[in-house]
Amino acid sequence: MAVDIRVVEVGARDGLQNEPSFKSLPEENLARVRADFVIALADAGIIDVEAGAFVRPDKIPQMAATDKVLSLLQSERPDLWNTRRFWVLVPNMKGLELAMQAGAKHISVFTATSNAFNERNIKMSIEDSLSVIADITSSAKEAGVEVRGYVSTVWGCPYTGDTDPKKAIFITEKLLEYGVSEVSLGDTIGVATPNRVNTILREFQKDWPLAVHFHDTRGTAIANCLRAIDEGIRVVDSSAGGLGGCPYAKGASGNLATEDLLYMLHGMEYNTRVGNTRIDTDRICEAGEVIAERLQLHLPSRFHSAWKAAQRK
Ligand code: MG
Repeated sequence: MAVDIRVVEVGARDGLQNEPSFKSLPEENLARVRADFVIALADAGIIDVEAGAFVRPDKIPQMAATDKVLSLLQSERPDLWNTRRFWVLVPNMKGLELAMQAGAKHISVFTATSNAFNERNIKMSIEDSLSVIADITSSAKEAGVEVRGYVSTVWGCPYTGDTDPKKAIFITEKLLEYGVSEVSLGDTIGVATPNRVNTILREFQKDWPLAVHFHDTRGTAIANCLRAIDEGIRVVDSSAGGLGGCPYAKGASGNLATEDLLYMLHGMEYNTRVGNTRIDTDRICEAGEVIAERLQLHLPSRFHSAWKAAQRK
């Protein structure tokens, strides 16, 4: 029996949020471009697709008009809306309110393992951010909205260095207590190596619903991913084309590319099919190419480069 792996596509949120060139589009176009990207990714067979964030548009203009993105999805593609999970990031109760008004059924919350990182990223201590997450999660769940948790800097922090696994475990346990359905463990600055993947993951309880979110800053994301799967992880976050630079290392790669991940998974006979829906790697490339052309970006995905060269023949 093939082992099932669920891929969570983060390109349209985590990816585009970290692309400076995406800031300059007018709001209407921004929503249209993001909605088309999200639709293309879902049409490629991905069940879990990040669609945006309800954050302040003056802080993160790339994520402006997320309400419009959700409304386009609902009105134009009810077939997808009813069969996929479109995740939106929510930083506070105001964000939750806006997300629910826009019809969101799946939200994500986030914190990090270090106070230094949280203070700089969200201007809150770990403790304060956990209390905000507890409130968001309980209100969301009451309204029947599913909540996914992200923990950043699980393998290392740009300010405090290597992470003590106990910190990551403490925060993960809290998020699960509050009622998040899954916790995605992030290597935010891409410092993990496979041995450190083991060191950290082995400390976690085996029955916790965990995902991994590796960054390819130093070229180890795919190796880390494979090691995590060997350790029993069955959910992997990745980004079409590898969209999304690393905000803590200028010019460096960010997210693991979905195409590279799928090439490895399908080649090793892991199953990404859900029901009749199998993820089509070529269609992920096509979706990424549309964005790359639009933003004049070079996508870091290796598979994507090979695919593109083959198209030119
Ligand atoms: Mg990321």
